[in-house]
Amino acid sequence: MKLILLGPPGAGKGTHAKKLSDTYGIVHISTGDIFRANLKNGTELGLRAKAYMEAGALVPDELTVDLVLDRLTWPDCEKGYILDGFPRNPAQAEALTKALEAKGEEIDYALNLMVDDDVIVRRMAGRRVCSVCGASYHVTGAPTKVPGICDRCGGPVVQRADDAPETVLTRLAVYHEQTEPIVAYYRALGKEVQIDAAQPMDRVFADLTAFLGEEGFHGGND
Ligand code: ADP
Ligand code: AMP
Repeated sequence: MKLILLGPPGAGKGTHAKKLSDTYGIVHISTGDIFRANLKNGTELGLRAKAYMEAGALVPDELTVDLVLDRLTWPDCEKGYILDGFPRNPAQAEALTKALEAKGEEIDYALNLMVDDDVIVRRMAGRRVCSVCGASYHVTGAPTKVPGICDRCGGPVVQRADDAPETVLTRLAVYHEQTEPIVAYYRALGKEVQIDAAQPMDRVFADLTAFLGEEGFHGGND
């Protein structure tokens, strides 16, 4: 099963990708997590991505597309994967479609987590993330069991630098200008699945699993 999670920053892509990954046993690939790990480890990729991420801008395609297409060739992707944060503009979407086509493959669904901007701004203000595994929490809505410690891996939970309110507004603007057009792209391909992501987390996840079904395929489609 090959899934894309679409939606604005703060829609719940990371939160639900991790749960879907646990439920269906398919790998979660988050470009944001990959860039943040590179930043933390001081790699050349991290250094090149840093200024864009801090500004809330997209990292250039030449640093992003090959990285993801290579990641999809790893053996852990054979059972399927969930892409979170990629593709993020029409060029990335086209590159993904072409690379999959060359292997006789295609994405199964682009799950579109739909939520309004005012909800996003409130969510991002309270978001906290594990600096080791990337798990997402919220200070009031989804707190860690032990303050400051990740429930999943025990890593330290911190606020993302790009969750500062002014950067959140930039990221939302970037989403509407550059990323939202790919919703229409996947709709035209018949791949878009609309999910009301303004609901409480459990309801969002229930809608996702109700659609995907117990085996991870909707209506027996394989
Ligand atoms: P994304 O990966 O799309 O940027 P996250 O999964 O990190 O978004 O979620 C952003 C914030 O919103 C986190 O603090 C998360 O706990 C919270 N959140 C996610 N989904 C919901 C929801 N349905 N209702 C309330 N809060 C949510
Ligand atoms: P995210 O964790 O998905 O919110 O991503 C955090 C930041 O990483 C974004 O604001 C971008 O700067 C960068 N980024 C993540 N994914 C991509 C992508 N597919 N293309 C370009 N930049 C990306």
